[in-house]
Amino acid sequence: MLAAMPPSPSKPRNGGESHIRDRVRDRADACPGALRLHRADDGGLARLRLPTGVLTAHQVAVLAGAAERLGDGRLGVTSRGNLDLRGLPDDCGLALAELLGEAGLLPSAAHERVRNMVVSPLCGLDGRSHGDAQAWARELDALLCARTWTTALSGRFLFAVDDGRGDVAGLGGDVTLLAEPGGCALVRIGGLSWRVAAGDAPSAALAAAEAFLAVAREAGTGAWRVAELPDDRPLEAAVTECLAGAGVATSAASPGAVPVAAPPEPGVVGDRAVSVVAPLGRITAEQFRALAPGPGGEVRVTPWRGFVVAGLPGRAAAKERLAALDRAGFLTRPGSPWLTVSACTGRPGCGKALADVRADARPLDDAAVRGLPVHWSGCDRRCGHPQGDWVDVLATGDGTYGITVRTARRDNDDAQAQR
Ligand code: SF4
Repeated sequence: MLAAMPPSPSKPRNGGESHIRDRVRDRADACPGALRLHRADDGGLARLRLPTGVLTAHQVAVLAGAAERLGDGRLGVTSRGNLDLRGLPDDCGLALAELLGEAGLLPSAAHERVRNMVVSPLCGLDGRSHGDAQAWARELDALLCARTWTTALSGRFLFAVDDGRGDVAGLGGDVTLLAEPGGCALVRIGGLSWRVAAGDAPSAALAAAEAFLAVAREAGTGAWRVAELPDDRPLEAAVTECLAGAGVATSAASPGAVPVAAPPEPGVVGDRAVSVVAPLGRITAEQFRALAPGPGGEVRVTPWRGFVVAGLPGRAAAKERLAALDRAGFLTRPGSPWLTVSACTGRPGCGKALADVRADARPLDDAAVRGLPVHWSGCDRRCGHPQGDWVDVLATGDGTYGITVRTARRDNDDAQAQR
């Protein structure tokens, strides 16, 4: 085993007052799941985690049928690439669980809310991958589901599994795997990084999560996420110990900046795949069926409210599919101003909403903010807002909206201030 190197400088997040042990959370998270429905104003809301983002044609058919038979006939795509069913009756839990279980979408009832991952959706499709992020995500999911301690992770704890291009590494994962050329991977948690062999990447991610739980328990603050810990210093020793306990060899890794790459553009990808985006992240069951892949193919749900249909027979078939998805109402061309627009649920689905934001949402015609993601919110919780720099369009309650440019630094400062 290589010696575990001090991974990177670490510092307290609260100006050095790491002895302060105020609780940041007084309860377990209330994130909805596929089995724990959230009661919204428009009925029950079920959220299905898709750790690799991958669906087969059969699973697409099952989910479309479930949306029509049990819900409001629509599916929502979240900013973590999960799928929402809304408008569910109170007594549908058993029927939904059976449907999902039979389709292979619920491998472990106990773990369904902790299988939170975002994975590079173009991995293996366009020649830009440094590692097989899809395979890592499958293995990490299997490891998560095979251990009981992992059920103590909160429903917000996120793994980002990046094939090296930098598309999901900047999405705020608590633990991030980043493929590197030459068969290596970086495992990052907080401001710390370790380099491991590619084959060890899933075990390393799990070890980092285990270390987080140990540190959070010791801190006694009820933290759900790494950013809620007082500082990185205890993590450094805990991760090193957990990596060693898992038999994962590490080598020195400089902290470096998180690489950031743009989301996949709509269009044909390589010769056998297409990428499209769901306007405002909501589609009908019929639109969802239009995504169904052919034999041996798959659909990948992206964390940018889009879909990649992979495994098409060739370039001509890919162009045909793209045209069909354009007719079905998906965004299929780069440069559409709607690609940057997202919105929370708003009225009438959310009781906290001050406006019907989905009806109001549109691109902003302002050169000063052009190119930045624009997120419309019905209240100051700003559910589903983008990471990084973005434009905050917030309902005021008097029929107007306030518009502010938010930066990643300011969001981080606000999060710290709220703790
Ligand atoms: S941001 Fe507010 S209004 Fe919008 S879904 Fe979240 S809680 Fe509801």
